Amino acid sequence: MKKRVVIKVGSHVLSEHGALCDERMDALCGLIAELMGVYDVILVSSAAISAGQSKIDLKRDSVVHKQILAAVGQPHLMATYEKKMSVYGKKTAQLLLNAADFDSKHRSTHAKNLVFGLLELGILPIINENDATATAEIVYGDNDRLSADAALCFDADMLVMLSDIDGYYDSNPSENKNAKIRPVVNTLSEAEIASAGGAGSEHGTGGIATKLMAASMLLAEGKKMFLASGFDLSAVRSFLLDGKQNGGTIFEN
Ligand code: ADP
Repeated sequence: MKKRVVIKVGSHVLSEHGALCDERMDALCGLIAELMGVYDVILVSSAAISAGQSKIDLKRDSVVHKQILAAVGQPHLMATYEKKMSVYGKKTAQLLLNAADFDSKHRSTHAKNLVFGLLELGILPIINENDATATAEIVYGDNDRLSADAALCFDADMLVMLSDIDGYYDSNPSENKNAKIRPVVNTLSEAEIASAGGAGSEHGTGGIATKLMAASMLLAEGKKMFLASGFDLSAVRSFLLDGKQNGGTIFEN
């Protein structure tokens, strides 16, 4: 049986100047197509808001504006994935979920049947938060929490987070130029997560704290999380395809 990975990509990686970044989406889709030969791959993709910004002129200055931008942008985001994955002969499918879907056994069983069915057919499931009824990830998290829920619910062996940062540092690298990357993290205390600070970039909303929360959820279930750069995919490629760690942070027990 193939190993299963959930890959979560942050909005900062997928977008640039209020639109989708074609070059980085090309690179990501190329890697996913390659990975699909070896792994069952489930993608959790942000960036519906940026995709929406390229379609309508609306500021992302309130929750409802973000919902509108995401609602307009989501089909554009999916159309972009569909087009880019078709180059590799791969089909895509959309799942809009929210935290409540994972809390309910009944609902998660339906979602599981769907995802497992898609994987069997070699179709790439692409998950995003359903922002119409749940805005938790829009406000806080940028799909970090959702991707951890998905990794656990869909029995993934590992969650791979592709971020604007290339790993977890011993202090905030945007404030401390001597910060050093931590290649391996075995445990995360609540105090460490709490001290990790607030939102990171302008487009991402979670910062490192929500990534550590996701890692902690996976560690508690004996699973792994790999955090690496989504701008330069060489670390994630060598980790997943060659079994070599040339960058990034692996969270494992
Ligand atoms: P994404 O948009 O990729 O989901 P975010 O921008 O939300 O990611 O979060 C990553 C950001 O968190 C980094 O760019 C960095 O500025 C910030 N950060 C704060 N502390 C740390 C740390 N200890 N290690 C790594 N990044 C950190």
